[in-house]
Amino acid sequence: MKHYTQEEFELYRNGQMSVLGRIACTSHLRECAECMKIMEKLKEDDKLIANLRSSVQIYQELSQE
Ligand SMILES: [Zn+2]
Repeated sequence: MKHYTQEEFELYRNGQMSVLGRIACTSHLRECAECMKIMEKLKEDDKLIANLRSSVQIYQELSQE
C-alpha cells in the first residue's frame, strides 16, 4: 500500500490536490490508521496555530487600551 506524505496531506487540506487525488486520499484515510494519525496531527497543529492567533489578537486588543 502506498502511504501519503505530510506534504501531500497539506495539499489535500489546502484543496490543492486534483479531484481524483482527493478521492484516492480520502479512501486511503478510511483504511489506513497510520496516515489518519498524520492527518490528526496536522489538525492538532491547526488548533495550536488557531490558539496562538487568538492569543495574539487578545494581546493586540489589550494593548490598544
Ligand atoms: Zn497510509
